[in-house]
This record gives sequence, structure tokens and C-alpha cells, in this order.
Amino acid sequence: MATSEPKGLATGLQQLPLVTLYLTERCNSRCVSCDYWRHGRAQLSLESVQALLPELKQLGTQAVLVSGGEPLLHPQWAEIAALLKAQGLQLWLLTAGLALAKHAEQVCALFDTLTVSMDGADAATYTTIRGVDAFDAVCAGLRAAARLGKPATLRCTVQGRNFRQLPRLVALAHELGAAGISFLAADLNNAEAFGRIADAARPESLALGIDDLAAFEQLLAEMERTLAPDFQSGFIAESPAKLRRIHAHYRALLGLGDFPPVRCNAPEFSAVLEAGGGVRPCFFIPGPPPAGTLTQSINSPAMRQLRESIRCGEQPECRRCVCSMWREPAALQRQLEPAL
Ligand code: SF4
Ligand code: SF4
Repeated sequence: MATSEPKGLATGLQQLPLVTLYLTERCNSRCVSCDYWRHGRAQLSLESVQALLPELKQLGTQAVLVSGGEPLLHPQWAEIAALLKAQGLQLWLLTAGLALAKHAEQVCALFDTLTVSMDGADAATYTTIRGVDAFDAVCAGLRAAARLGKPATLRCTVQGRNFRQLPRLVALAHELGAAGISFLAADLNNAEAFGRIADAARPESLALGIDDLAAFEQLLAEMERTLAPDFQSGFIAESPAKLRRIHAHYRALLGLGDFPPVRCNAPEFSAVLEAGGGVRPCFFIPGPPPAGTLTQSINSPAMRQLRESIRCGEQPECRRCVCSMWREPAALQRQLEPAL
């Protein structure tokens, strides 16, 4: 039967294996690259998550990434996690970890996978980047999770202030009993991601400077040699080649080359539900105004148009993306791995 829909729309999504929930916009960190901590107030209610459950079932959702803001600041984060877990969903917590030690037992009982941001190998570097003196507290949380049998993966945003510390961060991950560590470039491109507001005061750029590039290249070569077992075992999540993409990204930001090519179909298998009720196709691209339920929003003509534009490589955010994701179409049919 003919439809009246405009041409060029991506087909509607029948399945949504991965859903990210921003539980709250509030945060107890003060990262220089983010403004949620300045203005974030919105939070998802327990009732709104409860109302979402039938849809998640219908959409075949298998895993929920719980993020924010700082999700552990939501007063009912544990009730929400328990609600989702009771549906058989895999739960993945992305946290800055300041309150991890305090909540370690509950967190480890409720979540399948933990990722904790760790941007410095010592207290001074951590504080400079994250804006709060919490290195020891986060380390305590990581140790507690490891003791409870649920070691977290560290996630480090590589930038001018910490790139020299990458080998020390790998050593720290071992010392803390972590499951591994992953690295990505700082997102400096999207004016609107991370709740950014245009007129917020910012320090100097987080990017690597031109004088840093050679040192970073040398450091990556050394890491490939000296940390070969960590690459081979997957303790360092990225291959040496993937880490070199971070170098290429910063090189391109300085106008010295092309951005590494991006292959991403995240919006084909996932969506982000914001604390204020908005729905995004991914972390970095704002969605159109919500169109009712989650299912209605991911399949509204405007969202389908946006997905088509992403698929065709027309979205400017994608060209400089620091966190693209690709799943082979066949893999999308299978159970998502808990470790994602
Ligand atoms: S980047 Fe994350 S941890 Fe840092 S202030 Fe923003 S929401 Fe908080
Ligand atoms: S490449 Fe990045 S910006 Fe583009 S859809 Fe994927 S995650 Fe989003």
C-alpha cells in the first residue's frame, strides 16, 4: 500500500537492543569539557522508567546503559536499577565513581558492567581535569568493586593534560584490580553535547598542541612494545591502531591531516533517553522534539530523517566523532555481550 511519507526516510526501528538512560543531569564532578554540573537539574522519575518497561520489552531491549550526569546522584537510582534488572535487562553503569565506595555493595549487586571515568594517574592531574579533588575516593570505589567481584573498566579521556600518563593509567588500572581500561579522545567538537552552554567560561583548549604530537606518537610506539600483553589480553580495550586514531584526531584538529574515517551505526541499534525526556540518536547528536513514547520518538518522521542523514554521512558531528560504534548487522540480531 502506498504511504504519504516523504521519500528518503530511514525505515522505522522495530528493535532497540541498547538503550541509554540519563538518570539525572546533576553531577558532583566539575569537568572542564562539560556543563551539566553548572545547570543540570532534570531527572527521570521512577514512574517514567516504570512506564517505559513494556516498550523496552516490545523493542527487544537487552541492555541498558545507565548514565547522566552522575547517575548515582539520582535519589532512586537503586530502585530504578532494580526495576530494570527484574526485567532481565543487562545493566551497565557509567559513573564518575565519586560515590562508588559508598554504594559499592548495591552497585555490584545490581549492575552487570561498570565503567568508571579516570582521567588522571595521580590526584593533581585528576583534579585539574575533573575539577574536584576526588582521585582517592574514586580509587577507593574501584578497589571496593574489585573486592566485591565486579571489577570496573576505567575510561580515560585523553587530552593535552594527561596523554603522557597513559602507561601510568594502565598500571593504575592493574593496581586497582580493574577489569581493564579504555581510551578515547576528548570531544571538543560538538557545541551542544555534554549539556554545553555557549557562554560558559573555559580554560585553554583540552586538545594536544602541535608540540605534543611527536611525544604522543613516541609514547604510543613505546606502549605497543612494552604493554604488548595488555593489548593482547584486551586489558587495554583499544588496539595500538585504534589508539593511533586518537593521535590522528588531535592532528586533524590542528589542521595537519584528515580526521580518521568514522564507521558508526549506533543509531540503528540504540538510543539515548535524556533526563528531561528528550530522545537522541546517540550521545552527540540532539534529537528532534520528542514525539510521545520512546517508540514514537525513535520512529517519528524527523528522527527517521535524522537517522537517514547519519547513515548517508551528512551529519557534521559524525565526521569528527570520538566515540563511534559499529555493529555488524548480523551481530545486531544476537544477544549483546554484557561487556559491550
Ligand atoms: S563529563 Fe560527566 S562526570 Fe564530568 S561533569 Fe559532565 S556529567 Fe559530570
Ligand atoms: S559517529 Fe558519533 S556522532 Fe555520528 S552517529 Fe555515531 S556516535 Fe553519533
